[in-house]
Formats: sequence, C-alpha cells, structure tokens
Amino acid sequence: MASRPARPVHIADPAGGRTDRAYPYWRQQRMRCIALILAACAASASAAECGPDKLGTERTIVLQREGAQYGAQQHTALPLEKGEVVLTFDDGPSADNTPLVLKALSDQCARATFFMLGQGLRKDPDLARETVREGHSAGIHSDTHPHMATLTPAQQLDDLALSRAA
Ligand SMILES: [Zn+2]
Repeated sequence: MASRPARPVHIADPAGGRTDRAYPYWRQQRMRCIALILAACAASASAAECGPDKLGTERTIVLQREGAQYGAQQHTALPLEKGEVVLTFDDGPSADNTPLVLKALSDQCARATFFMLGQGLRKDPDLARETVREGHSAGIHSDTHPHMATLTPAQQLDDLALSRAA
C-alpha cells in the first residue's frame, strides 16, 4: 500500500467521553472499517465510495473530560501516532464556507471536528445539524469570538453560557 502524507484521526466527542488507546496497524485498519460502516449510516459518502486514494478516517478518539474547570486546560496532548493528524475547523457554521468543507470531507471520506460559534449556530442551526448528521463532531468556540483576554472573568463566563445555549 502506498504511503499517505497524513492519517486523519476523528475526535468523536470534543465535549467529553472516553479516550481509546493506541492500536497496532492491523487493528487501526479494522477500526477504519468500523468507522466507514458507521459513516455509511450517517454520511453521504458510503464505504464503497472510499478507496485507497481517499484520505479516509484512520480511527476515532473519544476524549475524556474529568470535571471540566473554568480557566484550566481540559485535555492533555492527544494520543496520536506518527503521521496521524486531527482535522478541525473553527468559527462556523458559515453558509459561505461550511458546505464547501463538508463536500471536501465527504469526497475524501474523512471526518472532522467543527468548533462552532454561538452566533453562527443561532444564524444557521440547520447547517450545524447537517454537519453532525454527516458524522462530524461539534464543539463550541465561544459565542462571538471575542479576544478573551480583554474580557473580565464574568464576561468570559457569559460568553461561554451564550455559546452553550445556542
Ligand atoms: Zn476562531
């Protein structure tokens, strides 16, 4: 099999869950098959459409969140292996960009994590739902994308609460 420049890893639940451990290569291939089967149920690209020329999704990691704490680092470094990458997109959903990103990911049978803004979720909730329906993950990336260091702690918490409510 020809080597690929990158092996995408999907973060299934950026808000919390369980972390899987590193898998040997043969098991990663098995995990890829499982991921593709699941993707066929939710995404427009079926497993049959994915081939060796596609980027694909190597495996899925579910993050563990142990008592999220305001102002603290929530996660340690991801347990990635050499050559693995995580695809993330910030600041959506956006009618200008998100459909193009979804199409590119679908064409490559790859799943990504979208960190969305509360204001975008209120403006285009259907696009956010479509993103998740296609097998991608969603996390929040503030409400209006302020420069957090310029806000008081109370203002930061207000922004977080607004984005969560969206
Ligand atoms: Zn951003």
